[in-house]
Amino acid sequence: MPVHDLAVVGAGVIGLAITRAYAELGADVVLLERESGPGREQSTHNSGVVHSGAFTRPGTVRAWLAVEGNRRMYDEAPRLGVAIERCGTLMVAQNDADLPRLWEYQRWATANGVDGVRLIEPAEAREIEPNLGLCVAALLAPSGGRVHAAGLVQALNEEASRLGVERRFDFDLAAARRTVEGWELSTRLGETLAARRVVNSAGVRAGRVAALLGAPGHRVYPCLGEYARVLGEKRSWLRTMVYGFPPPGYPGIGVHLTRTTSGEVLVGPTATYQESFEPPALPTTPLATFAALASAYLPGISERDLEPVPAGVRAKLVPPGSGDAFGEYQIAEEPEGSGVVHLLGVESPGLTASFAIAEFVHEHWPVRSL
Ligand SMILES: Cc1cc2nc3c(=O)[nH]c(=O)nc-3n(C[C@H](O)[C@H](O)[C@H](O)COP(=O)(O)OP(=O)(O)OC[C@H]3O[C@@H](n4cnc5c(N)ncnc54)[C@H](O)[C@@H]3O)c2cc1C
Repeated sequence: MPVHDLAVVGAGVIGLAITRAYAELGADVVLLERESGPGREQSTHNSGVVHSGAFTRPGTVRAWLAVEGNRRMYDEAPRLGVAIERCGTLMVAQNDADLPRLWEYQRWATANGVDGVRLIEPAEAREIEPNLGLCVAALLAPSGGRVHAAGLVQALNEEASRLGVERRFDFDLAAARRTVEGWELSTRLGETLAARRVVNSAGVRAGRVAALLGAPGHRVYPCLGEYARVLGEKRSWLRTMVYGFPPPGYPGIGVHLTRTTSGEVLVGPTATYQESFEPPALPTTPLATFAALASAYLPGISERDLEPVPAGVRAKLVPPGSGDAFGEYQIAEEPEGSGVVHLLGVESPGLTASFAIAEFVHEHWPVRSL
């Protein structure tokens, strides 16, 4: 059996970006994906926001990767022919009680080295978003934007093909065995291949894949994010991205309003821990809930203006009830010397950070070490 230099498990945007980084330098990479095509999980079920990095806790790898990833995304997406727009994001304080949190995010932005973030008056916020409801102040992050996530997945998949990467779809990794040369990886159906090194980029299933590869004890908690989209003419009511403040202890940045590169306006995502790695067959959040959330920022949006859209399931490392919305990413070789790098808890802003994460992995475990 031929032994590949590297097997990447998971053809989401991060697995694809990592694959490209190694393949471009001449490594023989095999990409393994349990679905019959790339990017069917988180990577195409997200808000498509290019995060500025202002809303990520300073001092974390996650914050550094967000800011670095933001810069890279604006370079890479146009090169790959993927739609991307630097429209800026607005964090809106609706009353005086929100102001301390707005100021805190401003401090985070400065600490994270995010360019151009500034507090603005309601009048300037309404120049950007004329239909904005209550606002006492807002934080403008000009480097925030939007990218066509599905387009990015497709472009990176084509890059992998161009670079001669062997892509094995319908390869659901179910067993792994350490060998003298590295790892033997198999499906339940008995398909087997060999690689010297492995990158585990299996998203919400990465804890399970880590256990197969000799790193037990990592639990990734699935957290459902549901959306609704605005129908008809009211889609023109939003130009950029509007964030507010979720209740304390909410396990995410909060439901926000997003205008996508295809002109859709999304309300969401919600954040509800669940057992399953898959979203439920039917939406669980009533449209009335989305209408209440949307109309708080764009008054006049009602239930009749909304319809549900497919949900995403986040890969969280922070357990339910921890009250922490900003868990750290874990990217490490484990056990040391095993030749397996695991990416755990790479939730938002993982899309934004994808190229920076690929570089990070590649710099720490360079191609010459394969
Ligand atoms: C609701 C929601 C909203 C988000 N919004 C944003 C946003 O606006 N901006 C942003 O920057 N980020 C956002 N994110 C985060 C971003 O989408 C993720 O961080 C990113 O897509 C993670 O990419 P990934 O490749 O690690 O994971 P995934 O896309 O989940 O890919 C993992 C892949 O591994 C495969 N796999 C799993 N197990 C196996 C196995 N045993 N064998 C083979 N293959 C396997 C899966 O099928 C899957 O294709 C959001 C996420 C969610 C869920």
